[in-house]
Amino acid sequence: FEQLSATDPEIAGVVLGELERLRGGLQLIASENLTSPAVLAALGSTLTNKYAEGYPGRRYYGGCAEVDRAEEIGIARAKELFGAEHANLQPHSGASANLAAYAALLQPGDTVLAMDLPHGGHLTHGSRVNFSGKWFATVGYTVRRDTELIDYDEVRDLALAHRPKMIICGATAYPRLIDFARFREIADEVDAYLMVDAAHFIGLVAGKAVPSPVPYADVVCFTTHKVLRGPRGGMILCRESLASRIDKAVFPFTQGGPLMHAVAAKAVALREAAQPEFRAYASQVVSNAQALAVGLEAEGMRPVSGGTDTHLALIDLREVGVTGADAEARCDAAAITLNKNAIPYDPQKPMVASGVRVGTPSVTTQGMREGEMRRVAALIARAVRTDPAAPGGADKLTRIAADVAELVADFPAYPRG
Ligand code: PLP
Repeated sequence: FEQLSATDPEIAGVVLGELERLRGGLQLIASENLTSPAVLAALGSTLTNKYAEGYPGRRYYGGCAEVDRAEEIGIARAKELFGAEHANLQPHSGASANLAAYAALLQPGDTVLAMDLPHGGHLTHGSRVNFSGKWFATVGYTVRRDTELIDYDEVRDLALAHRPKMIICGATAYPRLIDFARFREIADEVDAYLMVDAAHFIGLVAGKAVPSPVPYADVVCFTTHKVLRGPRGGMILCRESLASRIDKAVFPFTQGGPLMHAVAAKAVALREAAQPEFRAYASQVVSNAQALAVGLEAEGMRPVSGGTDTHLALIDLREVGVTGADAEARCDAAAITLNKNAIPYDPQKPMVASGVRVGTPSVTTQGMREGEMRRVAALIARAVRTDPAAPGGADKLTRIAADVAELVADFPAYPRG
């Protein structure tokens, strides 16, 4: 850091500013986590210098012996941890992993059945502004109005009606377990591939806190930076029979040279995720999310689907009379970072939204438990109900930020020294 400060004080200031932001507030974005110093060390290493197009033992550049070892170790760890036949660690991101899966299994124009974005699906599951919606004929399934759970009968009906070549399950804002066996059955009935986008919950799978999609899916794509607590990036697991198609779809079809510092950091994260402490972590992440959902419900904020089985809760704020956008801004002013989120059948536009999404990967990494989640719920409730434009509102939010600082002081993100 001293070197960075000497060379570029402006960017050093940004790095320090972000560190202080992490230390001083509550990080409740469900898709974020706090990587270990070991992961950061691999990321900030000379491996960033190396060109290594291709795969271990089959590179287009010399000098790859060391990076080959990193990638081989990472692949072996991924296969072992997830019980997968094949692993590709090169996707630069979750979206890149998904693009490669489409490229490996489909032709442009093919039909894909995936969860609708407003119901919790990801942009890469068929949004019109994304390659998936532009190049493929996508059909969206929803959650039921009454239960707010995936409507498996609707999924089957849509599959029978549209005969998709691929079905996707896995979401960005679905708090409940997904019935992979049921999806497999439906996919088999219409002879479709089953792709599971496990970006959000793969860390819980690694920590054995939720069931694994690996035995059911043809391809499992995910990000490595959420509950899994690795570097920003993507990964793909698949059956051996699809290995060559997946590898070719990642490189050379959709990507060039891999980011070998990120591949090495993924290997480090996989090692960390295979330790017994990570199992305890994953199960605490879920317990914390459940405690937070219960706490928020007690504050008059309804968890969509009644609660959560995972690391996140989706909170309907309509009873409180505050939009998701206002809630996000108010919490931000109180050093609580979360995001506005559409709820199923949301009457508001996505940039306004009727809800917020909260997740516990980061606060659990910091060592918080159920007791702290009750305090966090109370802090969120105070912030959401505080209008900064009302008399004294801004001061009130500053006082909440001070209470947040007091709470997080006992659970430092990246302790000093
Ligand atoms: N898939 C799902 C389910 C996600 O939630 C996300 C990101 O949050 C992605 C894919 C895309 O990952 P990335 O932002 O790394 O491209």
